[in-house]
Amino acid sequence: MPRPISLTLSARALTHNLAVVRRHLAAAAQDHARVDASVCAPSIWAVIKADAYGHGIERAVRAFSEAQGLAMLDFAEAVRAREAGWGGPILMLEGFFEPADIELLDRYHLTTAIHCQAQLDMLAGAHVSRRIDAFVKLNSGMNRLGFLPHAYRAAYAEAQALQQRNILGQVGKMTHFATADGPEGVVTQMAVFNATVQGLPGPVSVCNSAATLRFAEVALSGQPDQASWVRPGICLYGATPFDDVSAAELGLLPAMTLRSRVIGVQQLKIGDRVGYGGRFSAQSAMRVGVVACGYADGYPRHAEDGTPVRVAGRLTRLVGRVSMDMLMVDLTNMPEVEVGAPVVLFGQDGPAVDDVARYSDTIGYELLCAMAPRVPRRAID
Ligand SMILES: *Cc1c(COP(=O)(O)O)cnc(C)c1O
Repeated sequence: MPRPISLTLSARALTHNLAVVRRHLAAAAQDHARVDASVCAPSIWAVIKADAYGHGIERAVRAFSEAQGLAMLDFAEAVRAREAGWGGPILMLEGFFEPADIELLDRYHLTTAIHCQAQLDMLAGAHVSRRIDAFVKLNSGMNRLGFLPHAYRAAYAEAQALQQRNILGQVGKMTHFATADGPEGVVTQMAVFNATVQGLPGPVSVCNSAATLRFAEVALSGQPDQASWVRPGICLYGATPFDDVSAAELGLLPAMTLRSRVIGVQQLKIGDRVGYGGRFSAQSAMRVGVVACGYADGYPRHAEDGTPVRVAGRLTRLVGRVSMDMLMVDLTNMPEVEVGAPVVLFGQDGPAVDDVARYSDTIGYELLCAMAPRVPRRAID
């Protein structure tokens, strides 16, 4: 018998979440049409980097067939998406890394971000069989990738020169927000973006999940005559980009569920301690269950006492430090729970991945991406 741990992945939930984003954008476009009748809903790059946030590229490609494009940053994943039958646009979010990659852009018909002078230089020396579409990236304040505002228009002009030489095809403009999920929002960066790209032709792409869900109007305004693309990732997987709004409140469904079982039960006396370091000690007599799930499965070792866990359909709490292969839960008020009882660590019918993340000083993104290869995957619906 294999260990009783598994990860179930729901393509139906992925498709549902994409539809939530589509409806949200359509509603925002309808609202905006009162101001500007020519506006239409932005297109969606479904972000499937990091093996589709741990959900599997091939599954995501099938589930997101209604998206207009896919976005990622690993060439091996882009090739997998093409081999899975995706014929639409694919945006490489970090562009390319060396001249040999340009051949992959060409062969697999990939759209590239251009975020630095080195990439422009590599393109200038490239030979391609067809023109490569590109988005020139602005560093509008995050100071991760992109040209600074004072250098942007010169970089864009170089891209236009590459267009003249038939190396580049369509050239668009993109940036990425640092604080779309928090109180600062996107106003400052959007002002920098609009001022910098003003009058430059080509499609626009600015919004991640948080901006798509909270500031859809920025994807609609700005340059109404240009096509607009949003780049949602985390929300498509049924987790929230926000601290203060849950995935359920956003109408999203978890696509990944981590399940296991109780494999042992211990009776504690007052003062008895649990697990490595004895982090948790019993304030009264307790019953504790041992669950076959540990940090070698990707469950966060930093999860605190009190982290929610669902056992036999009821919510209880983690006690003691998470070990490599096991963790312990409080069964004191659950006398009916025995060895073999089903456990949901997060996902469908369990705590939200975001709740587990909050107790582990991280975000749902990290947990979804961190599930270990040793956990067997099972597709549902
Ligand atoms: C990861 C990423 C996204 C998607 O971000 P989410 O917060 O998961 O929606 C969008 N754009 C870029 C450039 C990214 O790297």
